[in-house]
Amino acid sequence: MKQTLKTLIVTALMLGLSACGQKPQVKYVFYLIGDGMGINEVIGTELYNQGTGYGPEEINFAHFPVRGFVTTVSSSSLVTDSAAGGTALSSGVKTYNSAIGVNADTVAVSSVADWARAAGYGVGIATSVGINHATPACFVAHTEKRRNYETIVTQYIETPVDFAAGAGIITEKGTGHDGAYFENLAREAGITVLHGPSFDGVASVEGRVLCLSGKDEVDLPYAIDRKEDDTTLSDFVQAGIDYLDARFGKKGFFFMIEGGKIDYGGHSDDAAACFQELTDFASAIDVVLAFYEKHPDETLIVITADHETGGLMLGAGQYEMHPELLAAQKASASVLTELFREEFFPDDKPYKAPSWEQVKAFFAKHLGLWDSVPVSARSEAGLKDIYEQTFGKGGNRNLETVNLYSVNSKMVSEAVIYLDKAAGYQWSYGSHSGSPVGLYVKGKGQEAFVGIRDNTEIAPTIAALAGYKRD
Ligand SMILES: [Zn+2]
Repeated sequence: MKQTLKTLIVTALMLGLSACGQKPQVKYVFYLIGDGMGINEVIGTELYNQGTGYGPEEINFAHFPVRGFVTTVSSSSLVTDSAAGGTALSSGVKTYNSAIGVNADTVAVSSVADWARAAGYGVGIATSVGINHATPACFVAHTEKRRNYETIVTQYIETPVDFAAGAGIITEKGTGHDGAYFENLAREAGITVLHGPSFDGVASVEGRVLCLSGKDEVDLPYAIDRKEDDTTLSDFVQAGIDYLDARFGKKGFFFMIEGGKIDYGGHSDDAAACFQELTDFASAIDVVLAFYEKHPDETLIVITADHETGGLMLGAGQYEMHPELLAAQKASASVLTELFREEFFPDDKPYKAPSWEQVKAFFAKHLGLWDSVPVSARSEAGLKDIYEQTFGKGGNRNLETVNLYSVNSKMVSEAVIYLDKAAGYQWSYGSHSGSPVGLYVKGKGQEAFVGIRDNTEIAPTIAALAGYKRD
């Protein structure tokens, strides 16, 4: 009886303190990063979905109760890369482009995932790209260069992250290692390795777990190119929630989730690929929201981006947009490049340059050009010029547009850029921009994020709300 009274008094005190905002009540933290997801990418996706019907007219997080901006400059450049951006978001520390979890003097800095673990919470990391790619790496590893992929995956194996999920493991050229080599190292370290697309049974794994797609890939395919048996980011997120809730539901957990290929669409100046990827990221957030609905008073969801990619503008000069024109594009520029090569210069047939009419028919079929999408005489002359460079006398049929994550046929790449522009989406450049990105917050403590923030402020704010001690 005495004990019960004491419990009641303690509980009343705790409730009183929490009402004053002193006692943290956030048990479950979801920290989501859309790589390369600028504000125009988010709004552009809604316009695309409204015009084509290919996704929800409203992107769920774009309407979260607290929204703001995040500034993204790094210590070395006004335009950040994913490594410096990721380190700022994970650790609250400004650093130079290419730095993973180290400060501007290359000294290791701890991340919000470390702070959560030290406070006794479960920790999960999931991404649609390689598990050791820059953004997830910033939450678990410390290395001077983002290209040190094998250092990063080795550090991941040594760091007690409870749940990790990614398409595959990126290896370095010349080491002779493949993904399977590191999977084995993970198993030897006692980590249970599961392969997608289904992760049934993940909730009953007792130790650490690593989920991979199981296919020979380091990135999940673009959502626009997805096949039935492909693993999705939502599969990873569901597996992560099932596992973390089973093992750490009582105490709580921290779960970082990256939509990694929104950025790839931007690097390729490929709006349809970018927007379907962003819609897919929102689908993964639906999985998070389903968890939130069960624990609304104890869950915090914070969504932002590391930077914008592509310098995407809404409006291409005529005071109008026609997002519906993108409906004709059913595959990414990368897959269209494969189709283009298969159709016009397959390996198993002697080469014969296609006519301009044949090339036009290809783009009518795959992008709607000259069909649902009007092409002016001037624009046709521009595309025909690339046709001449590709298939004309002295031309190079392998003429390419080289981006960070793709090497596409220049003919395909320029046709996609043309289509995007016709729809009103104009790309500035196939790289990052210095634009601020959006901040979208829902859940316990959301008010703490009101306003314009720097990317170094997010992790410490999460830590304060969840009661993690920043070391
Ligand atoms: Zn990035």
